[in-house]
Amino acid sequence: MAKKAVFLDRDGVLNVEAGYIHNVEDLRLIPHVAKAVKKINDSGFFCCLVSNQSGPARNYYPDSHVKALHQRLEYLLWQEAQAKLDALYYCPYLSPNAGGINPHFTHWGTWRKPNTGMLVAAAWEHDLDLKGSFMVGDKATDIDLAHNAGLTGILVTTGYGTKVVEGEYQHKTKPDYIASDLSEAVDWILQRQASP
Ligand SMILES: [Mg+2]
Repeated sequence: MAKKAVFLDRDGVLNVEAGYIHNVEDLRLIPHVAKAVKKINDSGFFCCLVSNQSGPARNYYPDSHVKALHQRLEYLLWQEAQAKLDALYYCPYLSPNAGGINPHFTHWGTWRKPNTGMLVAAAWEHDLDLKGSFMVGDKATDIDLAHNAGLTGILVTTGYGTKVVEGEYQHKTKPDYIASDLSEAVDWILQRQASP
């Protein structure tokens, strides 16, 4: 039977939103996040990162730097709570009109959120039930991604979340739930799952 997943955005959900992170050691976890990921691990949900990372397309840093940031992210999660991500997907691609300049990463693609490519790839690769899955993000485009693929979309008010709720960032969106942080989002998912 296909597994259900909790998909997590990265910046503003797991780590403190700090724009483009040029130094690996500047990636810092938001408080209580590692324990929340550990709760997902213990619940039996598949835990999967889905992140837009346009730094390589903008020539800010090479693709290897994104991988180094993810190594640090995984290290911090494990060190703090023995928490782990079952899979990591990120989109380094950007269209030319959105600011892509590095020819290797500059094109239109279905992986960039709110397009559903990363979720579809994860579902195929890991046999996931998308409709029974959850997406947690801090941007309107994360909620759009959830709804584009038939998932339940949860907005956290860490990162850009508060501005999204107030209509001051991106566009108005209708999350299925608004949580103060990932920890509260995970508790809501697990409660809902216990009595569907
Ligand atoms: Mg984010």
